[in-house]
Amino acid sequence: MGLLSQGSPLNWEETKKYADHIRKHGIIQFLNIYNKLKERQKDVLKWGDEVEYMLLELDDKDEKVRLILNSKEVLETLQDQGEKINPNHPTLWRPEYGSYMIEGTPGQPYGGTMSEFNTVEGNMGKRRREASSVLNQNETLCTITSFPRLGCPGFTKPEHRPTPVEKGVSKSLFFPDEAINRHPRFSTLTRNIRHRRGEKVVINVPIFKDKCTPSPFVEEFPEDDGEAARAALPDHIYMDAMGFGMGNCCLQVTFQACSIDEARYLYDQLATFCPIVMALSAAAPFYRGFVSDTDCRWGVISASVDDRTVEERGLKPLKNNKYRIFKSRYDSIDSYLSSCSEKYNDIDLTIDEEINKQLLDAGIDKLLAQHIAHLFIRDPLSVFEEKIHLDDENESDHFENLQSTNWQTMRFKPPPPNSDIGWRVEFRPMEVQLTDFENAAYVVFVVLLTRVILSYKLDFLIPLSKVKTTTQFYSFIKCSDPIIAGLSLEKLCSGGHVLLPKGHLQRCVKQKNGLETDGANEEYTLMSIDTIINGKEGVFQGLIPILNCYLENMEVDVDTRCTILNYLKLIKKRASGELMTMAKWMREFVAQHPQYKQDSILTDKINYDLFKKCDRIAKGEEQCPELIGIPVNRFK
Ligand code: GLU
Ligand code: MG
Repeated sequence: MGLLSQGSPLNWEETKKYADHIRKHGIIQFLNIYNKLKERQKDVLKWGDEVEYMLLELDDKDEKVRLILNSKEVLETLQDQGEKINPNHPTLWRPEYGSYMIEGTPGQPYGGTMSEFNTVEGNMGKRRREASSVLNQNETLCTITSFPRLGCPGFTKPEHRPTPVEKGVSKSLFFPDEAINRHPRFSTLTRNIRHRRGEKVVINVPIFKDKCTPSPFVEEFPEDDGEAARAALPDHIYMDAMGFGMGNCCLQVTFQACSIDEARYLYDQLATFCPIVMALSAAAPFYRGFVSDTDCRWGVISASVDDRTVEERGLKPLKNNKYRIFKSRYDSIDSYLSSCSEKYNDIDLTIDEEINKQLLDAGIDKLLAQHIAHLFIRDPLSVFEEKIHLDDENESDHFENLQSTNWQTMRFKPPPPNSDIGWRVEFRPMEVQLTDFENAAYVVFVVLLTRVILSYKLDFLIPLSKVKTTTQFYSFIKCSDPIIAGLSLEKLCSGGHVLLPKGHLQRCVKQKNGLETDGANEEYTLMSIDTIINGKEGVFQGLIPILNCYLENMEVDVDTRCTILNYLKLIKKRASGELMTMAKWMREFVAQHPQYKQDSILTDKINYDLFKKCDRIAKGEEQCPELIGIPVNRFK
């Protein structure tokens, strides 16, 4: 989730005093990096994935599943057995927000050769086995995006009560502070977001209205001092802590480009795919023990770290704050970065004018300057007393402070000072999948997409305002069916406002083949995900056919080709609806559970049975053809 410094964290009042200092030096640090490395050209294509995991205990006696709060110990053991004794160890482990979460990456980045696609799933398998091996009996590690009963009484082991009244960082009615990672960065972020905002964060997710769900659905919160009653909307699942969002797991991919220009180009192109791939990876239908009417975690995390004040949110005229800010820090991107994308930048950008000018004066071009000046409208949230005065030539913590708390769909990452790392971009919207096979498939799909974009010089850009991620998802995943399982991907996506330039791609591919351009004008058309991924005669070729065409022209060994084709098949079938998304599959599981009363409530027993099944599938002990098909497991 970002940089971890050791030391004494400052509270919000103290942090505020240093905000300008941190921004000022953050910009100097950025400029130093930029000036040193802007010409750097020869970096090779490298990439890596990040998988976030939850640690849990399956209690067969009570038939209950609980999150276990020992990620610190688990992490230490994994690091002691791995990277600390062997610099070439194949896995790396890092902390994440929840004290029940860990994050795993491959030990070394992958390179540019095709055969490496054949090692991704194997490495994910190693991670799963390695982490499982340090857990106790009955404990397991799970790649589930959102824990369905997060915030329900007794959801952790050991059990802790939330502390809404006494001192605490979340003051949540539901989410105890002990479920937050013990590193001070995480509790500091939590407390300072709440203090900066002036109240607890407010998350309202529409509830799925089933046959027996009370209507209106209104909850009472016995320990509430009035804040929850004011914030909770009828017919919504109300949540009040950062943990409900940042305590979710995702799947990310980071690419190193060969130059800053290539990184900027990839950033823009991949940005248009964020909503599409997010919908394809949908895996988070349940919150705080209820069935919701959304399938993805994004809006929940976005609200869970929304530190904007009432003024910044536009609810009161600006008086104490400088800007009206339109989005949470965790949201979709607001501007493209490449000069050829400029005409598609149609979102009003709030920027720090002074910083923008400073960057322009220092020779940074308009698009990059405004990008940074936009990120820097935010305040730092977590500052350590020992880390205030830094060596701007050789450190970049102040830049990273703001950069790493702008949690957007894409991240453009300058190289760290004094490293041999190049300019990178991170693709961040995907939800994590249940099995290593699926996670490898999504990762390989996205990496192949970048290869195709770069080799064919494809252009998928559309006006950025049409690339809709958060609220749109929530408005279009509406389901009035009385059947809980009614959310088909097709339905989910048909209103998905995913737009691609009509004719644009045909034009590019034709050019590549030496044919004349057809001069098609650039229009955008609403397409279903099926059309985007699989293509439709006369509308769009489809990404999978384009990737297949690329693969046919590449030298790939038979085994790797077979692996890749298996992955693409999964993506293809998910898009067409032939296979379910994880979200839909979980909904069906609950709908068919004998204990489910069609009241949108997910009991401990249902949750336990769901995890029992998930665990068996993830370990390869049981197949799940409706979710995954029948892939040949080649990486055992
Ligand atoms: N867990 C967060 C998510 O689900 C991401 C945290 C990170 O940036 O690593 O999106
Ligand atoms: Mg992470």
